[in-house]
Amino acid sequence: MDMTAMFKLTYGLFVVTAKDGDKDNGCITNTAAQVTSDPNRISLTVNKTNYTHDMIVKTGVFNVSILSEKAVFDTFKHFGFQSGRDVDKFADYTDCERAANGIFYITKGTNAYLSAKVVQAVDLGTHTMFIADVTDGQVLTQDASTTYTYYQTNIKPAPQPPKSKKTTWVCQICGYVYEGEELPADFVCPWCKHGPADFKKVEA
Ligand code: FE
Repeated sequence: MDMTAMFKLTYGLFVVTAKDGDKDNGCITNTAAQVTSDPNRISLTVNKTNYTHDMIVKTGVFNVSILSEKAVFDTFKHFGFQSGRDVDKFADYTDCERAANGIFYITKGTNAYLSAKVVQAVDLGTHTMFIADVTDGQVLTQDASTTYTYYQTNIKPAPQPPKSKKTTWVCQICGYVYEGEELPADFVCPWCKHGPADFKKVEA
């Protein structure tokens, strides 16, 4: 099998937000998709290591902010490359407002948001797939939704040439650089949680 065939699947990119008591959090995902129109339902698959995952399991509600081609890399870094367990991602974040369900949505680099209420959770091992009723939604701009390919080509900064004389492995998803001759087979990118298949070797 040619694993790169998987790379031809197309995805959007989203900030998923949740709220548990006084705690707000959000993360980046490429996994929101409509599954039925009547009732209007979406699926959202979230890695169990994400703090947002646990908040959705507990509260059963979330918002999906749909990222547009105007999104900037800082938004991906802010919501994607740090954990809500370590930092309060909304402490000094001003590009957001609260939807009717009380959960933040993102107002910068987005074109719409959806509010959703979980009706079913499917355990997929490393991830949980939430099936959720869409309870609300607003269009924010007429900018085109970004695809994963557009992000890779136009939003993610070009990789910098390695500063060291060592062999490095560069994560093709987020740009994280691992230094070393061989990448461990069970390596997990600390920023985006992707595995060795998404790393490219850069010879010294
Ligand atoms: Fe990565």
